Amino acid sequence: MSRCSSPCAAPCRNSSPSSASLPVADGEASEFQELELDNVHAGDRPQEECGVFGIFAPGVDVARRAFFGIFALQHRGQESAGIAVSDGSNMSLHTDMGLVNQIFNEEILSSLPGDLAVAHNRYSTTGSSELCNAQPIWMQSSEGRMALAHNGNLVNALSVRLEMEAAGVVFETSMDTEIIARTMDALVHLRLEEALLEMMSRIRGAYSLVMMTRDTLIGLRDPNGVRPLCLGRMIDGSGYVFASETCALTVVGAEFVRELEPGEIVFINREGVESVFYHGDAEAEDRDERPALCIFEFIYLARPDSQLRGRNVHGARRKMGELLARQAPVEADVVIGVPDSGLPAAIGYAAGSGIPYQEGLIKNRYIARTFIQPDQLQRELGVRLKLTPLNEVLEGQRVVVVEDSIVRGTTTKRIVQMIREAGAKEVHLRISSPPYKWPCFYGIDTAARKDLIAYGRSVEEIRQYNGADSLAYISMDNLVEAVGHPKQEFCRACFDGEYPIRVPHDIKYTKLVLGDDEANGANGSHGANGNGSNHAHTGVDSLAEMLPNGAGDPGPESEGENSLEGAPGREESGAHHEVVAV
Ligand code: SF4
Repeated sequence: MSRCSSPCAAPCRNSSPSSASLPVADGEASEFQELELDNVHAGDRPQEECGVFGIFAPGVDVARRAFFGIFALQHRGQESAGIAVSDGSNMSLHTDMGLVNQIFNEEILSSLPGDLAVAHNRYSTTGSSELCNAQPIWMQSSEGRMALAHNGNLVNALSVRLEMEAAGVVFETSMDTEIIARTMDALVHLRLEEALLEMMSRIRGAYSLVMMTRDTLIGLRDPNGVRPLCLGRMIDGSGYVFASETCALTVVGAEFVRELEPGEIVFINREGVESVFYHGDAEAEDRDERPALCIFEFIYLARPDSQLRGRNVHGARRKMGELLARQAPVEADVVIGVPDSGLPAAIGYAAGSGIPYQEGLIKNRYIARTFIQPDQLQRELGVRLKLTPLNEVLEGQRVVVVEDSIVRGTTTKRIVQMIREAGAKEVHLRISSPPYKWPCFYGIDTAARKDLIAYGRSVEEIRQYNGADSLAYISMDNLVEAVGHPKQEFCRACFDGEYPIRVPHDIKYTKLVLGDDEANGANGSHGANGNGSNHAHTGVDSLAEMLPNGAGDPGPESEGENSLEGAPGREESGAHHEVVAV
């Protein structure tokens, strides 16, 4: 394996922490200490990490289409975004921090000529109040330079990276995505198809990839199909697209063709569309040989107008509410939902129970998400900035509040309190997911297990913490009925601890971390990672604490044993724009 000479295109911009501190009221601070909420991750829900998009459309201004593609996928990542295009002779790339429509304008899109593009938007924790790793990034192949965009998380990233570093490969980021890129660099002697299959045999985890050579667009899904990826066809016949979700198809003038199968690689160029399937590790013992689409995509992550496994996400959420009404009825006067993702289930609960549905919480649509706040107190404030109770609807009423999930419990507690302060007589919480008990290692930013409110607590204890009059979660059986496919076809690990891909022993933290604080910049900065490795680690969860029996490799348990201390962090500020010959 040779030393990596391929520059990583996407710059990492380590910046100084920008969060302003707020005065802390004693009482409020202690309230949060109650649950040891010391993790920097904001929000009270798992957060999706990354959306990917690709387009092959000869004769079409693909940069503009790619812009609208990732604009439609903005909910999957708001930290950074990028578009790479190829005109057959040159590849151009533009990446920057921020929302898609903050990064791109007419001038920038005009500087991205070509008929082939891949694009990416990325979520990263705001707690890591510096850094980023925007994508797409470059890699090499027998076909020359390629651009890569990734959604998901590799679970064996650390061991693969250490092995490669021992062989002399130099990494410029702490992204697990770069492991894919550098692995491909090392396989340039193989035909592209062979290199991709070999790369898949070396990595484990969740990965939906969109890539391009100078003339070919490629979509690839991991053997378990954890993260979604679909294929669309341009309605005018000009070409094809790949997208994380179907909601990105219509806006670019494409129609849905199908989802990529787990383990499928699809090549699209002027010669047509060709599929290849990965079967290389059918006997592998470190993952289940089954499809395992993330069931949380249905509950919260995906946009309601997307289709997954042939099921409309809004319809599935509404059905969850209907089934929850039957499973956990309560006498009440009004049903409200927590905007936005709790609304379809609330409508379903109202339909299933016969209790009128009303809007009881109004969302400030200009506050993106509460996780923009960097610390716990600001998160709490963020809830109030984001949601306002409608007193006219709530006063004197027995209220059913439907929410899609409770992760830490802090936001939900605040919502219950707000509704009571608005004059509600009773507040009954209904949750359209089962209790969230296990951390996700496959591309979703959750929390340390100790911070998951359902970890080690009964439903009654959670109800007491939230201050609701009653609390009920949907059962797994009802959830599965709502999504309309057999339970064994999904990853449900955050609810039942059945991880379809074994989590190696070197993942010792709350999420995948390829570098520790020291490794990724000074001042307590955190590892930069395009797909979930960009997290502060609290270093508190040993594997034994985090995983159910048998789910993890029985490896050594020494804390930080394989950390990448001293790994380089890239520093750069401002947008990155690059044009290279291919
Ligand atoms: S652990 Fe949960 S959030 Fe993560 S992929 Fe599985 S179902 Fe989705």
